[in-house]
Amino acid sequence: MLALVFVSDMESEMETHVVLLSSPGLGHLTPVLELAKRLATLSNSKVTIFVVPSLSAAESLVIQSFMSLNLCRIILLPPPDISHLVHADAAVVTRIAVIMREIKPAFSSAVSALSVPPTLFIVDLFGYESMDFADQFKIPKFVYIPSHAGFLALTLYLPVLDEVVKGEYVDEKDALFIPGCRPLQLEDVVDPMLCRSDQQYLEYLNMGIKIPMADGILLNTWEELEPATLAALRNDKLWGGISKAPIYPVGPTVTTPNRPIDSNKSEMFLWLDKQPSESVLYISFGSGGILTKEQMRELALGLQLSQQRFIWVVRTPVVAKSCDGSFFTVGNDCNDERLASYLPEGFLDWSNNMGLIISDWAPQVEILRHQSVGGFLSHCGWNSTLESITHGVPLIAWPLYAEQRMNATLLVEELKIAVRSKTLPSKEIVGREEIKLMVKRLMVDEEGHTMRARVKQLKLSGEKAWNHNGSSFKALAQLMR
Ligand code: UDP
Repeated sequence: MLALVFVSDMESEMETHVVLLSSPGLGHLTPVLELAKRLATLSNSKVTIFVVPSLSAAESLVIQSFMSLNLCRIILLPPPDISHLVHADAAVVTRIAVIMREIKPAFSSAVSALSVPPTLFIVDLFGYESMDFADQFKIPKFVYIPSHAGFLALTLYLPVLDEVVKGEYVDEKDALFIPGCRPLQLEDVVDPMLCRSDQQYLEYLNMGIKIPMADGILLNTWEELEPATLAALRNDKLWGGISKAPIYPVGPTVTTPNRPIDSNKSEMFLWLDKQPSESVLYISFGSGGILTKEQMRELALGLQLSQQRFIWVVRTPVVAKSCDGSFFTVGNDCNDERLASYLPEGFLDWSNNMGLIISDWAPQVEILRHQSVGGFLSHCGWNSTLESITHGVPLIAWPLYAEQRMNATLLVEELKIAVRSKTLPSKEIVGREEIKLMVKRLMVDEEGHTMRARVKQLKLSGEKAWNHNGSSFKALAQLMR
């Protein structure tokens, strides 16, 4: 029924063929697939998604499961060898940007070979290099930033900051001014802005220069979540000289599970079924997040002190500080026995009745939507953040890398649905006592109940955004027109 309404909204009978391009990494692929699903089901469009896969087993599972829906065509582009172009220890942003540059010839010939020519082109935030390719077909080109309006504002304003700020951003005296938006605290700058001589900074700057050249920008947020920032971005006096590309907030677009829970995992759901309502804290650091051994130990001891129930997705820790170490390999390292050896003595005995340890990868959305789950200790990746909001679950914000510190501030200071530690977990070890206090604030105290009530309101507002005549529904219909 929804599809018919959407099509008649479009007042068009012309067949559209939307071509999407996704960069490697689950955090990028998932929102592209979900947007594709909406396009295929809400409009009469044919949708083809080009995916540059990473080496992660988790990503392969997601692709297989999506293919089984038979909604859209997925074409995998073999990842190019970039070993001669970047250092083995180059930042994730650099590696993805180089991969997406190198993929251009393969992508270009694959699109040219399509039997039905594309009529609309949507690339994700790292696909901007391939955007001009749409000009050959004389079709509109859009960029999908699977993040929030605050992140878009920073990205678009970076070329100006690059001119104005002379030294390192983190050495500035005051927070960074961004027109019409909350000033960006220096400790919240995104990873690529931490060091201006690193290649990832230049890649990010390039993104800020190229994105305004699109015919429109899609965001994974919705009008009612960030009204002030979206209004500022559309204020021509403030932003007209920087970007005139119309903005289409088409969120919340989050994973809708479509695979059966396998027997191995169902043990976890049997356990969850037995727990009191909203009593379990789910702990996960996304597809890339890794803790140090010491931090893992403190987290375990903090949980024990809090005496709260939990499900923890545990990954092999790192010795040095690399927070995003599993970005390209998540899901490849499931080994329960080895992981147990990183936890403090006695922890597993204590946790027998209190919680579950899952190695490396968990069915996150299925967990978050279970009624026993009442909190999420998260690295604040934007997908995880939206998955938490759309299931009415408040958070403990534990930002590690990328733009997660900005996301954490949005959750704690603007939306008021999360607590966070006094110091940044990406800088210092968060101790067991502070962890205990945060867990209790969220899971036991009145403060947590208030946040839970607030996040449930946001959940409803996200649902409304996709109703007929909801803001995101209308934005997508408008774009398709
Ligand atoms: N995810 C999952 N199970 C895990 C860890 C992550 O299903 O054990 C999914 C999660 O639901 C989300 C995505 O992986 O959709 C992670 O994206 P996010 O933007 O939160 O963080 P990133 O991985 O990009 O840092």
